[in-house]
Amino acid sequence: MQPIVIATWKFGELAARAALPLLTRGAAALDAALAGAQAVEDDPAVNSVGYGGLANRLGVVSLDACVMDGRTLDCGAVAGVENIRHVAALARLVMEKTPHLMLVGEGAKLFAVQHGFPLECLHTPESVATWQRRGLEKSTTHLTHDTVTVLALDQTGSLAGVCTTSGLSHKMPGRVGDSPIIGAGLYVDNAAGAAGGTGVGEEILRIAASSVMVESLRAGQTPQEACELAARRIVEVGKRRNVKPAQIAFIALDPRGNVGAACTAGTDFHFAVGRGDCVEMKQAVAIA
Ligand code: ASP
Repeated sequence: MQPIVIATWKFGELAARAALPLLTRGAAALDAALAGAQAVEDDPAVNSVGYGGLANRLGVVSLDACVMDGRTLDCGAVAGVENIRHVAALARLVMEKTPHLMLVGEGAKLFAVQHGFPLECLHTPESVATWQRRGLEKSTTHLTHDTVTVLALDQTGSLAGVCTTSGLSHKMPGRVGDSPIIGAGLYVDNAAGAAGGTGVGEEILRIAASSVMVESLRAGQTPQEACELAARRIVEVGKRRNVKPAQIAFIALDPRGNVGAACTAGTDFHFAVGRGDCVEMKQAVAIA
């Protein structure tokens, strides 16, 4: 089977370029998706994931991540983790080495240290300057964010996904979004497909979006239909709640290698698709 990787936002290209050669050489979907996510965590120029990520109100970079293996539904997650750069790899370790699915805060950090993860300052001069500027603006209406969600299909036809983020800029200390929550920011099942989200996590959580998309794939819809369904639901819920739909985008991949993406109107969402020896950027359909 021809492997494929898809990843959110412009920096998804970096993820896809790291993951695709691994998939082509026969790597498992989870290994490839994790390598892709880690390339983004390592890039200080990406200001919403890993090293150089967006700080919370206290000026602390606090990271969330999860992983899921579509073969077995094995999954792991971490949330509110400080001073650890590779939180996606940490989430995988939670999956592999503990009887639990999720560790948070100090417990997650302790577990990381026990397994040899270095404690690091995750700030860059640019991330500190961004935090200071935002603090002066005293505005919570223009929060910035963005998550890398990587979905991969390997040569054996198996699916996996990884999601990693610093969440919303200037978030309240302790705030956790959708990204580390299985069924919200990510869900993967070889029997149906893989799906993930990015954008304002509270709204993605509210509709259990990735679960909705994978169940729609299970019912026979295409990845494009599944993403549009979730985006439409976000818009409908926004109307019921009398609020403007938040900036949200979804991606999905089925076990045959079909891909889909959709976003709410006003979200200029691009995503990367890596297949064969080529990675290309695509723009998602916007739902009003
Ligand atoms: N979903 C992330 C969160 O709410 C942010 C993003 O993907 O833009 O933490």
